[in-house]
Amino acid sequence: MIMKQRGIVKKSIVYAIKDKSNCSGCHACYAVCPKNCISMVSDDEGFWYPKVDEAKCVQCGICVEKCPVINEVDKDEIPTAYAALNKELDIRLSSSSGGIFTLLAEHIIDNGGTVFGVAFDNDLNVRHIGINKKKDIQRLQGSKYVQSKIGDCYKKTKKILDAGNVVLFSGTPCQIAGLHSYLGKIYDNLSTVDIFCLGVPSPKAWRKHLEYCGEIEKTMVQSYSFRDKSEGWKNYSTKIHYKDGRIKKIPHQQNPYMRAFLSAVCMRPSCHSCKFKGEQRHSDITLADFWGISNVLPDMDDDKGTSLMLVHSEKAEEILTSIIDKLVIQTVDIDEALMYNSAALYSVKAHPKRQQFLSAVDYMPFDVAVKKYCEPSLLTKMHRKTRGVLSRVKRIIIKAK
Ligand SMILES: Cc1cc2nc3c(=O)[nH]c(=O)nc-3n(C[C@H](O)[C@H](O)[C@H](O)COP(=O)(O)OP(=O)(O)OC[C@H]3O[C@@H](n4cnc5c(N)ncnc54)[C@H](O)[C@@H]3O)c2cc1C
Repeated sequence: MIMKQRGIVKKSIVYAIKDKSNCSGCHACYAVCPKNCISMVSDDEGFWYPKVDEAKCVQCGICVEKCPVINEVDKDEIPTAYAALNKELDIRLSSSSGGIFTLLAEHIIDNGGTVFGVAFDNDLNVRHIGINKKKDIQRLQGSKYVQSKIGDCYKKTKKILDAGNVVLFSGTPCQIAGLHSYLGKIYDNLSTVDIFCLGVPSPKAWRKHLEYCGEIEKTMVQSYSFRDKSEGWKNYSTKIHYKDGRIKKIPHQQNPYMRAFLSAVCMRPSCHSCKFKGEQRHSDITLADFWGISNVLPDMDDDKGTSLMLVHSEKAEEILTSIIDKLVIQTVDIDEALMYNSAALYSVKAHPKRQQFLSAVDYMPFDVAVKKYCEPSLLTKMHRKTRGVLSRVKRIIIKAK
């Protein structure tokens, strides 16, 4: 996109992004800039946006051409849907759904490849890293409900691919679209995994939550699990390890951070009009929680986590064939499977008090801000109740057919 400002033609991403909902923070523009003049800078809400050093910018316009939100990126065919779970219970318990990601990562590393995915750093910031040792897979296991910083991982991926080595890259659908757009060509040695994504919460909200946890317990948080399944997968808890050795388990409905996440009060603006929803994806494999499994295939539900897996490409079918002995797997009807997971198809609606909340966390204790701004209105409660009844009726009709 070319923008004219005071008679000067501007070809740069900051002019092309008309409002914040047009930027998913994927880092494609940052990675592709031939002059390295784009940096990703946090705004007041804690989300990264590109900033262009005008003195260095030659206005080549590549950053605009590569933006996957502004431009269309090709999507795959209608996928095959599977219910799947890893036969190793320990892995399933340390994963968010059926532990499928770990099997994919093991397969790639066994073939001399590198796996990119999301890990905590030493300060519990959430970022993408690349690994090529099996012992490090556990760092990528489990959902981290915070927007992950890509940093230089697209550039590193390209380097590895150009050297002829294999890569598995996992991330949100917008991050996978960003990677493909940045690479600009198909690599046979690249496989990608995305997830059904409700949306990505603000890294600032995450930091404020961590600070709050540390303040009330008078010690710092050492590690954090968003999905402890010891009380079951559907009724999961968060598990917090503190530096003084204490462990605190909180049912997810009572954890202020999870309440903020699930009520969509702290999501990135682009998540409310996400371009990357649907059955067709930019990835080879899509992973999700198979929330309707107890209705669709009760035999595959032991409440320890079952994945819904969408397989989009021949490459992905080949990987699946190689790991099939390690899985319990069954094909399912895609429409029936998606019925239980609205995040697959629809963007989450922004909480009406989103902006107030994201500024309140700067001066109010995190849990107080959650109590003040996240309580659902009477109308929302009624809407949810009606939706619950309607989906139960739908299920009864489908079963009767
Ligand atoms: C922000 C977010 C929202 C989600 N929303 C939904 C939803 O609405 N419905 C649903 O069914 N599933 C959702 N998921 C996906 C789901 O929780 C599981 O990640 C998925 O089912 C894979 O589970 P697994 O057991 O195979 O592997 P796991 O070991 O649980 O998966 C780990 C994988 O998740 C990736 N990952 C972890 N954190 C992030 C992050 N912050 N950003 C990008 N990738 C990440 C890792 O790189 C790795 O590939 C969401 C995940 C995230 C991170």
